[in-house]
Amino acid sequence: MTDDTWGHVRGELLKTVGKNNFATWIEPLQFTGLTEGVAKFNVPTSFFGTWVSRNFSDQIRQHLITAGAEVERVEFAVQSGARPARVTATPPAAAKRPANGRAPDETEQLSAPLDTRFTFDSFVVGKPNELAHAAARRVADGGPVSFNPLFLYGGVGLGKTHLMHAIAHELRTRRPELRVLYLSAEQFMYRFVQALRERQIMDFKELFRSVDVLMVDDVQFIAGKDSTQEEFFHTFNALVDQNKQIVISADRAPGEIKDLEDRIKSRMQCGLVVDLHPTDYELRLGILQQKAEHYRQQYKGLVLADGVLEFLAHRITTNVRVLEGALTRLFAFASLVGREITLELAQDCLADILRASDRKVTIEEIQRKVAEHYNIRLSDMIGPKRVRTIARPRQIAMYLAKQLTPRSLPEIGRRFGGRDHTTIMHGVRKIEELKGLDSQMAEDLQLLRRLLES
Ligand code: ADP
Ligand code: MG
Repeated sequence: MTDDTWGHVRGELLKTVGKNNFATWIEPLQFTGLTEGVAKFNVPTSFFGTWVSRNFSDQIRQHLITAGAEVERVEFAVQSGARPARVTATPPAAAKRPANGRAPDETEQLSAPLDTRFTFDSFVVGKPNELAHAAARRVADGGPVSFNPLFLYGGVGLGKTHLMHAIAHELRTRRPELRVLYLSAEQFMYRFVQALRERQIMDFKELFRSVDVLMVDDVQFIAGKDSTQEEFFHTFNALVDQNKQIVISADRAPGEIKDLEDRIKSRMQCGLVVDLHPTDYELRLGILQQKAEHYRQQYKGLVLADGVLEFLAHRITTNVRVLEGALTRLFAFASLVGREITLELAQDCLADILRASDRKVTIEEIQRKVAEHYNIRLSDMIGPKRVRTIARPRQIAMYLAKQLTPRSLPEIGRRFGGRDHTTIMHGVRKIEELKGLDSQMAEDLQLLRRLLES
């Protein structure tokens, strides 16, 4: 294999990984040779090497093989001369390096790759996400920090990662001088552990304390991981003290994350906490319309019958990712068989997804989730105890059973240890009443609903 082969493979990689990833991760690779099935590359830092190895080595290997090279493995080594695990700036970056820290494009290199499709333009705003969207926009303006952190939370596939990437894209365009670092909590931990192992903890601290905007996705991941939490807490405080913007996402509200230290929870609550609500019909339809428009341009000549998008928005309520997947499959299938996209075709082609979305919540599941949430025994759900700490959760479960299942009051009564239907009715009414008076109760109900419906 020659440098020419690598040149060709780079061209192929550019097509598959996208421009941003290519510039960040592939371009800096230096091919140093192929011996005994091992293709070797120099990388600027060990973190860089690990990242590329984890995320791109398969693709690199595949492309090399396609280009005729006999490659079994791809290896990355920190080039000699560079300090290991230390970010060494490439000359242009060095030129831009501000006197007191690292340059924005250096930070960009350390950031997790951003999905180029996740922009504000492609984000459809509806009632369930308008607050989160407005808050994200505010942060993306890059003006003075008005709330810190911005804490976005919500169920799977509701657009948290999309919004965070959109913020990062926008800031990089509008305020190129800012050092914006986006990564998942898992990557934060991974890099922290790596820094510990390689005795580079000072570098790690310096890196995270020198950014202007830190975005950490899926922070629930670090719950229970003690030293990572500790480090995260210190990083967080150091940045807040310097008035640097922080954006965090999680799958639930700060207070609801189990095994997250109390001091972290309370720090998270100091900023603006906004949730992305489950999608409603209008939002789902809006997202489908936007996607369909995109596909119409991609698959010219395909006809989409009236009512198909409405049907999907009505039937697929789980999450946006599933919704998008359904549409992608539908267009690909229709173009393959060269047919119009009709309701019938959709039902055929998406039978499995439609069936899965039909999933019904059971009373048994409701009882289990509610018992778990309030830390009481499942048996107390059906048992006779009347103390408030047990009776109240039991009534909540009754209320949810009435709301989320098609069961009648007598049927629900039977599942709650053979209670009379009037007891169930009383329980349901009680919760309806409390919901309006007690915001904690309203929040609990919303959380439980989301857990049950996801
Ligand atoms: P989360 O991080 O909350 O689990 P993501 O941000 O990964 O969810 O979103 C899942 C998918 O749904 C992505 O492809 C994203 O682009 C899409 N999506 C979610 N919400 C919207 C929206 N309001 N408008 C357009 N696309 C959306
Ligand atoms: Mg996400």
